[in-house]
Parts: sequence; structure tokens; C-alpha cells
Amino acid sequence: MKLILLGAPGAGKGTQAERLCKTLEIPTISTGNILRAAIKNGTPTGLKAKSFMDAGKLVPDEVIIGIITERLAEEDCRNGYILDGVPRTIAQAEAMEQAGIVFDAVVSIEIADEAIMERMSGRRVCESCGASYHLVAVPPKQEGVCDSCGGRLVQRKDDAPETVKNRLEVYHKETEPLKAFYKERGLLKPVENQKGVEDTTQAILRALGR
Ligand code: AMP
Repeated sequence: MKLILLGAPGAGKGTQAERLCKTLEIPTISTGNILRAAIKNGTPTGLKAKSFMDAGKLVPDEVIIGIITERLAEEDCRNGYILDGVPRTIAQAEAMEQAGIVFDAVVSIEIADEAIMERMSGRRVCESCGASYHLVAVPPKQEGVCDSCGGRLVQRKDDAPETVKNRLEVYHKETEPLKAFYKERGLLKPVENQKGVEDTTQAILRALGR
């Protein structure tokens, strides 16, 4: 199963990807997590990406295309994967298509902008493994500590309200056109965000015929 998760920042792509990859037994590839790790490790890619990310802008397509084609060529991606946060532009989608990367389905998580703004203030991520939590909806077992790896939970710099607004604008302008792109290819499966995390996971699995 080769799957793309589309949706606005804060729609729950990361949370759903973590759950789906356990059920479907395939890895999740998140360009956001790869870039945050690169920044933390001070790599050349990280240095290039940091200012864009801090401002809530997209990292240039050529950087992303390089990262993703390299990652998808790794052994653990042989039986499929879930892409979280990539492609984010038509250029990225076209580059993947040209590289011969084909998908089985593109799930678009649908949620209103107002709900996103409210949700982002409670989001926390693990600074070690990138797992995401929410103070109310998905709390960790122990406050401030990641359930999976014991890492410290922090608020992302780009989750500040002004930056979230920018990211939503960028989403509508640059990423939302991907829905039409994949609809034309018969792959798009829109899924309404549900109240509970588990309900949304179930809705996605139903849309995938699982
Ligand atoms: P995310 O964790 O998916 O919300 O991504 C956080 C930030 O990383 C985004 O706001 C962008 O600056 C950058 N980023 C992640 N994935 C991409 C992508 N596919 N294309 C461009 N920028 C990206």
C-alpha cells in the first residue's frame, strides 16, 4: 500500500500516519520530521530548511524532491509507505510521478481552518522521535514525556498562531490544488475529520476498503 495523507497543517496527518502504519505494517515518511532532524543535527539540508520552516513557508521543491526520492529508495519502503506532508506542491507531485513513483490512494483529511487554529495551541511533539501529542485529545501517559521513546515533549516553533495562519494560507494556495491533481488520476479519497482520533482512523480505513 502506497499512500499519501493530504490535509492542512494540524489536520492530524502525523497522528493518523502513526496509527495507520501500525495497522498496515508499513513505514511513515514525514518530510517535516526528516527536516526537523536535519536541523537538530546541523546538516547542510537542515541549514537550508530552517529559515523557511520557522517562517511557516515551504522548503524549496528541489530540497524536498532530493530528500524524498532518496528515502523512498531505502529497503524498508519496498512493501509500501505512508507519506505525511509530502507532496505539498504540484511540482513535487509531478517530480515523483516522473521518477516512476505510483500511489494506491491519496487520503485527504478535511477539517475547517477555525478548528485547526484551536487545535494547534495544544499540540506537542517529541523532540527525539517526532511523535505527536495533544494536551487534551492525545495526552501522553506522563506529562511532558514521550510514550514511545521517553523523549521530551515540546511545542513546535511554527505552531505559534501567526505562523499557523501563514501555513494555512500556504496550504490553500500551494497544497490544496493537489486534490484536483489526484482526483483526475482517480486516487483521491476525502475523509471528514471526526471528533475522536480513533473515529478518524476508522473512517480512513473504511475509505481504503480495509
Ligand atoms: P510538517 O511537519 O509536515 O507540518 O512540516 C513542517 C514544515 O516543514 C513546513 O511548514 C515546511 O516548512 C517544511 N516542509 C515539510 N514538508 C514539506 C514539503 N513536502 N514541501 C515543502 N516544505 C515542507
